[in-house]
Amino acid sequence: MLPDDLLAALRNAQHVCVLTGAGISAESGVPTFREAQSGLWEHYDPLDLATPEAFLRNPELVWRWYRWRRELVANAEPNAGHIALARLAGLVPKLTLVTQNVDGLHQRAGSSGVIEFHGNLFEDRCFVEGCIVEPGVEDSVPTCPGCGAQVRPGVIWFGEAIPERALHESFSAAAQCDVFLSIGTSSLVYPAAGLAEIAVKAGATVVEINPNPTGLAALFDHAISAEAGTAMPALLEATWP
Ligand code: NAD
Ligand code: ZN
Repeated sequence: MLPDDLLAALRNAQHVCVLTGAGISAESGVPTFREAQSGLWEHYDPLDLATPEAFLRNPELVWRWYRWRRELVANAEPNAGHIALARLAGLVPKLTLVTQNVDGLHQRAGSSGVIEFHGNLFEDRCFVEGCIVEPGVEDSVPTCPGCGAQVRPGVIWFGEAIPERALHESFSAAAQCDVFLSIGTSSLVYPAAGLAEIAVKAGATVVEINPNPTGLAALFDHAISAEAGTAMPALLEATWP
């Protein structure tokens, strides 16, 4: 049973802001970082692969991991959670969708204007100047045709800055929305985790959807302990029957 005050807040909202994390793609078969990695990569800590230091130490290894993830994501399909969020855009006057995911599954589910906090798995950038590089021949470590530097995956790694525009747009949406949904994120990685705190301070109705309630849940108005692929369609159905 979803609480009536939550349904009313969503039904009356002028601006809904959503933050998604790896959990929303879990039901598509894309593993989250903090759950056990499976198969080939179970002996590696993602924190030792998704950093600039890891790339400098062993770019071949980092590229092998990202090519494995690209293939995994390319073979995955958006799930009911992604699809419900794409539908939500048509049900409220304004929706801002911010994702920490790099998998592009929101866009494939039909969401537009997605703010990608941590970049995109399918982009290539050069390590030195950040030039966007057209994906070309799959060398073990490609080089930039512009400056000759090594090419890296175009994702934001641990310890790197969030793109200015993503940061600005998402923080202003969090401060202005009336309902904030935090879906499938461990709320451990800042500054993304700070968005929900801003929404709380701004007086929005803040809701977490996660089968494992997080440390921040106590701050929120509602914590729905369920998987996104079940909870999101149920929330839409209950709000707009
Ligand atoms: P995380 O791995 O730290 O946490 C995932 C959260 O999702 C956990 O709290 C877990 O309880 C929850 N969860 C698991 N299954 C769920 C489901 N079916 N429905 C709802 N919630 C579910 O992920 P994070 O907080 O996003 O942060 C880690 C960083 O790793 C991110 O910044 C992201 O860039 C990167 N990452 C991205 C992908 C992707 O693009 N799909 C995958 C793994 C990691
Ligand atoms: Zn370059």
